[in-house]
Amino acid sequence: LSMALTACGSDDTGSDDTGSDDTGSSEAAVGKIGVILPDTESSVRWESADRPALEAAFEEAGVEYEIQNAEGDAEKMTTIADSMIGNGVTVLAIVNLDSESGAAIQEKAESQGVATIDYDRLTLGGTAQYYVSFDNTVVGELQGQGLADCLGDKDANIVYLNGSPTDNNATLFAEGAHSVLDGMSNYSVVGEQAVPDWDNEQAATIFQQLYTAADGKVDGVLAANDGLGGAAISILEGAGQAGKVPVTGQDATVEGLQNVLAGTQCMTVYKSATQEAGALADVAIALANGEEADVTGTTVDSSDDSEVPSILLEPQAITKDSVGDVISDGGQSAADVCTGKF
Ligand code: BGC
Repeated sequence: LSMALTACGSDDTGSDDTGSDDTGSSEAAVGKIGVILPDTESSVRWESADRPALEAAFEEAGVEYEIQNAEGDAEKMTTIADSMIGNGVTVLAIVNLDSESGAAIQEKAESQGVATIDYDRLTLGGTAQYYVSFDNTVVGELQGQGLADCLGDKDANIVYLNGSPTDNNATLFAEGAHSVLDGMSNYSVVGEQAVPDWDNEQAATIFQQLYTAADGKVDGVLAANDGLGGAAISILEGAGQAGKVPVTGQDATVEGLQNVLAGTQCMTVYKSATQEAGALADVAIALANGEEADVTGTTVDSSDDSEVPSILLEPQAITKDSVGDVISDGGQSAADVCTGKF
């Protein structure tokens, strides 16, 4: 527990760097920016990390904005998009719930002269001018490597709990993890399933089934995010195996970080919401001003081989001894993470 004490015993409170006080006067963009977040259930990140980071980024830039959440309902996302367009947004950023509904929203926006951006998830077959995200293949590689580091050289049976089949990121996470683990001859995949809508309750049911089907002979779990990891841990707890079977995660949520400190989760992946929201704000402001945005490269849309100009940020693997990095970066506060036994 000494590492836990390092993370939680430090006096770095992770206080916000609010930067300069921008009064947003003369250089403010003319446009208004709309952002539609996907849901509140697939990860706590959207409301707890992305929304405040987006608000801070837009306020610092002095632009008008509107942020709404589709609550897991693609029809609702379509309705919100229509209302935002009606309210005069000039740039619309979405985190799609599935590529089909996302592409339809973008097509409609474009026909009304509204520029579109894919935030975090690429819309396959979509028409977004830009894509802002993390390198999601690298996220999967970090998860695969993290699990391998926790398992070591022994022979091990691995179960994969993948993200939603409608989320292109989930495909990339799984590909990245497989690219690392499949090359290790001492590991075998004894179960693998995608979790619809990243639903944590379904994840527990699915994991229970895979665990039973494998006769409980599961040595490691590649869970695509902290919510799915938590679901697996709850089943492992029931079987008296929590803390013995390493489980991966993603998002550096409070729950995930606490599981890492407790030793029931082997690692998580930190993706700074401040960085991602800041990148979105930069791109949106460039578009609102009719300018081109600075990008890190292009992303190939696997559905039609088109190339989308992209900003892909670098994710960071977090283990017990680096939980403090998330706190010092302001990704979570020490007060939230270091409760009770930490
Ligand atoms: C995001 C993850 C998130 C998941 C569920 C993915 O597209 O990249 O950070 O955990 O969706 O919301």
